[in-house]
Amino acid sequence: MNSEEILVGHSVIKIIRGDITQERVDAIVNATNPSLRPGGGVCGAIHRAGGQAVTQDCRRVMAERQPLVPGEAVATVAGDLKARYVIHALGPVWKGGKQGEPEELASAYRNSIELADRLGLSSIAFPSISTGIYGYPLMPAANIALRALRAALERTRTVREVRIVLYDPDSYEAWLAAAR
Ligand code: ADP
Repeated sequence: MNSEEILVGHSVIKIIRGDITQERVDAIVNATNPSLRPGGGVCGAIHRAGGQAVTQDCRRVMAERQPLVPGEAVATVAGDLKARYVIHALGPVWKGGKQGEPEELASAYRNSIELADRLGLSSIAFPSISTGIYGYPLMPAANIALRALRAALERTRTVREVRIVLYDPDSYEAWLAAAR
């Protein structure tokens, strides 16, 4: 199988191809929008697969807080998904790379891992945040994400397995290249 595993301390990062809505993990990360609306892309797919419970819990969270800023992550229930939580992380919109996008993208991954660790979770699945509708170029995004994940995993208490679930062949190849 053409996949890649990176060992980091007591943890592993796995690069795999698939549909993240089918993953069986403690937390599925959603590449969300500032107001946690269903929207399109992977976010729409996660809301559809998780069902009303996810969308309603997003509304409950938003009733009590301001819109997310890029890099932030919040947890909700996972509804019908094979997960305990959805962690909604907001990546940056690509504006050329000189307006804080790399730091914001790294924060989205780091904050998701730290939130999962605070919740005592062991496994977490990520999509390729910001590289769809938000337009972040794939190779730099994968490199930044892997660096941020390695650094975050050095400090985790409970998170042991990170799966990067790539839907399309181009994303998968870019992440494999970054991992190697
Ligand atoms: P963003 O707005 O953060 O760019 P998108 O949803 O547009 O988010 O895209 C992020 C990535 O998620 C893209 O590479 C897209 O191909 C991928 N994607 C879409 N549907 C799924 C899915 N079901 N599982 C995993 N990844 C998906």
